[in-house]
Amino acid sequence: MKFGGTSVGNTDAILKVVDIIKKSHDEGNEIAVVVSAMTKVTDQIIAEAERIGKANEKVSPSELIETLRERHLSTLKAVAPDFVDEVTEHINVRLERLENMLTAVNNLRELTPRSRDYIISFGEKLSAPIVSAALRQIGINSFQVSGCDAGILTDGVHGSATALPASYPRIAERIGSKLKDYVPVIQGFAGCSLEGAVTTLGRSGSDYSGAIIGAGIDADEIIIWTDVDGVMTTDPRMIPEARVIDSISFIEMMEMSYFGAKVIHSRALLPAMEKNIPVYVRNTFNPSHPGTVVNRDTHADKRIVKSVSLIKTSSLVIISGFAAGRPGIAGEIFTALAQAGVNVMLISQGSSELNISLVIIDDQIPAASKALEGIKQKGLIRYYAFDTDVNIVSVVGAGMMGTPGTLGRIFKSLGSAGINVLMISQGSEVNVSFVVSEANGPRAVRAIHDEYQLDKEDD
Ligand code: ADP
Ligand code: ASP
Ligand code: MG
Repeated sequence: MKFGGTSVGNTDAILKVVDIIKKSHDEGNEIAVVVSAMTKVTDQIIAEAERIGKANEKVSPSELIETLRERHLSTLKAVAPDFVDEVTEHINVRLERLENMLTAVNNLRELTPRSRDYIISFGEKLSAPIVSAALRQIGINSFQVSGCDAGILTDGVHGSATALPASYPRIAERIGSKLKDYVPVIQGFAGCSLEGAVTTLGRSGSDYSGAIIGAGIDADEIIIWTDVDGVMTTDPRMIPEARVIDSISFIEMMEMSYFGAKVIHSRALLPAMEKNIPVYVRNTFNPSHPGTVVNRDTHADKRIVKSVSLIKTSSLVIISGFAAGRPGIAGEIFTALAQAGVNVMLISQGSSELNISLVIIDDQIPAASKALEGIKQKGLIRYYAFDTDVNIVSVVGAGMMGTPGTLGRIFKSLGSAGINVLMISQGSEVNVSFVVSEANGPRAVRAIHDEYQLDKEDD
């Protein structure tokens, strides 16, 4: 069971978490728990690390440290009164370590990817001991442990590390073998590299931690407990009529999360898929709802289109004026972008015009710009530009490609809403994505949601 930030965000939420675990434990289940940091904590730590890393005078992180101390200790007192002394000491030691690290960053005026990862993993170091103590408070044996000590070994890509297969036997040994006697609480979001440096798994990466641990202990099921009833037809914050999808395939869910459905981290499904472990998405605040099951079954639903999602933080990159008679320029462009660490979300090429359009995430513009400037300096292209005022809209459904006229229907509904499409890419058999202006993003989602009546129950 993985519990997200809102699910461990305050006293009431943690008491609900403990209830859910107890109920399942009483039914005889063996459970490993993975937790996120309390809501907003990771954001706060990142903001502070960046402020301090950029500062050219002496700044003190003490205000953040005191805010974190107050929030965590008051929650601890409420959920685990019998363990306050022991766990307070634990939390204080960790806060002191975090403060020292931030002070070191300030002294050095340098925040490296490695030190950043170590620092931003602290949110989970503070939440896990509280949840573990809350379990002990109600008589369940529990210990808390870091992702690294739980056995998660990763490559060295700081900020978005990938778990290595060698993690699994280690997790089985360190966590799986303890489940008869304990409900371990594992800090989500981080593991460590072969050199032992802390690595984080990408923002929202605790879902991925949950799946890695699930795969490592050979779980019968992985449950992602969050703050909505399940995976929905679109983001309910954008379209309140969004409906819970009962079941969806791994492939469809991977496309959905890759293209913006924040409810599961896009890489979290891989370990589950490899081991064929069903993943349930359920609501901590409404545990009687069955939620969504994500599994191998690609045809549990008669619907052609199952969901629509939106990425607002995207930019269109227009590259043109290819050097005449030089083959392989597209290859050079992609190689340069890959070497710069730029993740290309969508591609469209018009060869007669000798141009390429790409879509990337906004914060990769500086890296992409540098890479493309190099290509331009070599005389391979004449022009490149970024349009940051765009959104990616992505439509997912395993039934789409086998149904003639699907694209026509999607684009006709956009046309009727007066929405101009800037670029289209049919990424896979279960997904079509396109780019519209920022002003049209949510309207485009609404148009498709309405066209396919995704707010209506199945018959
Ligand atoms: P957690 O802290 O539990 O990991 P997140 O905030 O990361 O929770 O993810 C849950 C949120 O994802 C929901 O509150 C919802 O607003 C958002 N979301 C976006 N797209 C979808 C979708 N298709 N289905 C469900 N939730 C979605
Ligand atoms: N705390 C981390 C984040 O905010 C990981 C997670 O919550 O999944 O990105
Ligand atoms: Mg999340």
